[in-house]
Amino acid sequence: MPFDAAKLVADVEAFCQEVRPEEELAYAERRFNEQAVPLAKKFNLMGMNIHPEYGGRGADSVNYFKALARIGREGTTVRTFFSGHLSIGAYPIQTWGSEALKRKYLPAAARGEKILAFGLTEPEAGSNPRQMTTTFEKKGDHFVLNGMKYLISNGGIAQAVVVFGYDAAFPEGDPNRRISAFVVDTDAKGFEAESFSPNAKMGMPTSNTAMFEMHDVRVPAENLLGELGDGFRIAMGTLVSGRLSVAAGCLGVIEDCLAESVEYAKARTQHGKEIARHQLVQEHIAHIEMDRIASESLLLRAAEAKGRSEANPANKELLREADLLAAQTKFFVSNAAWDAADRAVQIWGGKGWSTLYRPARHLTDVRVCRIYEGTDEILKLKIAAAVLGKEWEAFK
Ligand SMILES: Cc1cc2nc3c(=O)[nH]c(=O)nc-3n(C[C@H](O)[C@H](O)[C@H](O)COP(=O)(O)OP(=O)(O)OC[C@H]3O[C@@H](n4cnc5c(N)ncnc54)[C@H](O)[C@@H]3O)c2cc1C
Repeated sequence: MPFDAAKLVADVEAFCQEVRPEEELAYAERRFNEQAVPLAKKFNLMGMNIHPEYGGRGADSVNYFKALARIGREGTTVRTFFSGHLSIGAYPIQTWGSEALKRKYLPAAARGEKILAFGLTEPEAGSNPRQMTTTFEKKGDHFVLNGMKYLISNGGIAQAVVVFGYDAAFPEGDPNRRISAFVVDTDAKGFEAESFSPNAKMGMPTSNTAMFEMHDVRVPAENLLGELGDGFRIAMGTLVSGRLSVAAGCLGVIEDCLAESVEYAKARTQHGKEIARHQLVQEHIAHIEMDRIASESLLLRAAEAKGRSEANPANKELLREADLLAAQTKFFVSNAAWDAADRAVQIWGGKGWSTLYRPARHLTDVRVCRIYEGTDEILKLKIAAAVLGKEWEAFK
C-alpha cells in the first residue's frame, strides 16, 4: 500500500488526544506511562517509518518528523519512546541489517510485539563511544557478549536492543580493534536490565530509562549488523536519524509552549489588563514564535537532506550534508525548546513553576535533549570543525 500522509496525521492526532490524559496522570503519580505503547499500537504507530515490506507504514523522513513533532507536543517522554523504538532502534536494523534480520525484527516491531532500543552509552563511555569496554567473541555459529550499557531509553521494556562492542580478540591500543553492532534479545540468558526509578530522574518520570549488563550473552551470528567492524559507522549513521527525531520532538515542545503561553496570557489579568497586553510578556511570545519558525525551517531542510542521502546511499557528499545538518538542527532546536519552555514558565508565573501544568513539565523534560544523542558541546565542536576544516578538529 502506498504511504498515506493524511491518514498518518489523523492517527497521530487521535493518539495524541488519548495519550494526553494518561500522560498527565502518570506524571502526577511519577510513574511510567503504561498506556503509551498500547495506544501507539491501537493507532498503528509502532512502525510509522518502517518500510511496508516489513509491515510498517513507510513514512518518508519529512512526514515521519512531522509526526514526531506533533507527538512532541505531548511531551519529551512520549516522543523519546518513539525515538528509542524507531529512530535509533528499528532504523539501524532497516538500514544495515541482512534480509533475514529485517524479517526477524521489523514486522514484530511494527506490530508492537517487539519494542526496540539502542545501547551505545556505558558508564565510562558517553561522548566518546570508543572508550566502551563491552566486548564480543565469535564462538562457532554465535557471538558471546559481555559488558554494561547505561542510560538506555526503553532499555527496561525492550525485547531487543542494538548493542555495540569491541572484538575481544584485539587488545586495547591495537590498530585493528574495531567496534561491531549486534541485535540482542533481552530475554537471552545473562542479560539483566534495571530501570531507573522515576524519582531518580530530573525529568521524564513517565519514560523508561535503564541500564543493562550482559554476562556471556549468546547472540546468533545472523544478528550481526552489517559486517564485522562496521559498528562505529552504524552508530554514527544512526545518530543522524536520532538527532533529527530529538529536534522534531523539540519543535513540538516549542509549539505547545507557544499555544499554552498565548492561551494563558490572554486569560490572565494583572494591573487591570490581560498580561498579553503587557509589552514585556509580548517579548516572550515573540521569542517563542521565533524559536518555532526558525526550528521548523531548519528541521524541514535537515529532513529533506536526510531523505536525499538515503535515496543515494553511495553519495558521501549527501551523507556529509545530512550528518552536519542533523547536528546543527539538533543543537539549535533543543536549545530553542529549552528557551521556549523557560519563557512559557515565566509567562505562567507561579503556576508555571508547578508540574501540574505543561510549561514546567516541558522545561524539566526537554533539558535532556541538550545531552542525549550528542551533547551541546560535542555538536558545537562538530559544527566548528565543518566550518574551520578537518585539520582544525578539536578531537578525533
Ligand atoms: C534520559 C536519557 C536517555 C538516554 N538514552 C540513551 C539511549 O537510548 N542510548 C544510548 O546509547 N545512550 C543514551 N543516553 C546517553 C547519552 O547519549 C549520554 O548521556 C551523552 O552522550 C553524554 O554522555 P555522558 O553522559 O557520558 O557525558 P560525558 O561524555 O561524560 O560528558 C560530560 C560533559 O563533558 C563534555 N565533554 C565531553 N567530551 C568533550 C569534549 N571533547 N569537548 C568538550 N566537552 C566535552 C560533555 O559535553 C558534557 O558536558 C541517554 C541519556 C539520558 C540522560
